Amino acid sequence: MKIGIVGLGLIGGSLAYDLRAVGYNVLGVSRQPQTCKDAVTLGAVDSASPDLASLASADVVFICTPVSVIDAIATRLIPYLSPEAILTDVGSVKGAVVNRLTPLWPRFIGGHPMAGSEETGIHAAQSRLFAGNPYILTPTAETPDDVIQTMKDLVGKLDCNLYECSPTVHDRSVAWISHLPKMTSAALITACLSEADPEILKLAQSFASSGFRDTSRVGGGNPELGCMMAQYNREELLRSLHQYRQSLDRLTAMIEQSDWSALEVLLKQTQAERSKFL
Ligand code: NAP
Repeated sequence: MKIGIVGLGLIGGSLAYDLRAVGYNVLGVSRQPQTCKDAVTLGAVDSASPDLASLASADVVFICTPVSVIDAIATRLIPYLSPEAILTDVGSVKGAVVNRLTPLWPRFIGGHPMAGSEETGIHAAQSRLFAGNPYILTPTAETPDDVIQTMKDLVGKLDCNLYECSPTVHDRSVAWISHLPKMTSAALITACLSEADPEILKLAQSFASSGFRDTSRVGGGNPELGCMMAQYNREELLRSLHQYRQSLDRLTAMIEQSDWSALEVLLKQTQAERSKFL
């Protein structure tokens, strides 16, 4: 089977490494000729070029570009695809992408590997990035059975934990565990930066250690990704942000009222519940 990957960045490059490692012939397409050269030199792909026509022989094509251009790339790619080819994407939001691509290509299925890092580009790509992490497929009522089965088999080769749900359920779920944390982590960084005393700020930066590293990691990551989450999953993100504000208000009130027993109950509850998320 031949695999095509459009967008040889962190996710596309990492997928390429793993699919090549299990024996598939991987053809890459990326916007910049230098990225294509690097992907071949690094051994992520068998061949690469900026030309979408080079994917004419691919059986499955993953679009791994920013969400904002998935639609335009699919439109340019489709004239080159064989009628049996499966088209999928890895975008972090699914409703907007699936609604747009399903009418364009009946053998399209949305997907989202839940793994990443704060870095971007082909040099950040790594083998086994997805192993042990969720990979969500979002078929619709019209998605052909053989498309779903082929994708399940393919994703299974990445040693991911496979899930299937509707695009709507996907977007609501990831708002809680991915899109909301991106915003709250960014808010934490901006709140710290609002310290007016430069000496205090400098010391705080020197004292920052594992706790701050963990809580600020996603807020310090790819800005394009955060903007895309807000733009394409706006309603669900706003819903989770409003709820988060209520949680903050509740915590603030407990501290203002020196209600230490209520605070302890809440923190014991979050300590017990966290393990269910991880
Ligand atoms: P990335 O490292 O910036 O990679 C995106 C790549 O797409 C770039 O290397 C760029 O290649 C290429 N590209 C951009 N515009 C293009 C165009 N018009 N035509 C062809 N190639 C183009 O970003 P990423 O983190 O891999 O994210 C890619 C997708 O994965 C996004 O849809 C994102 O939502 C999704 N995702 C990200 C994560 C994460 O944590 N990072 C996790 C899961 C899913 P050039 O170098 O050639 O310009």
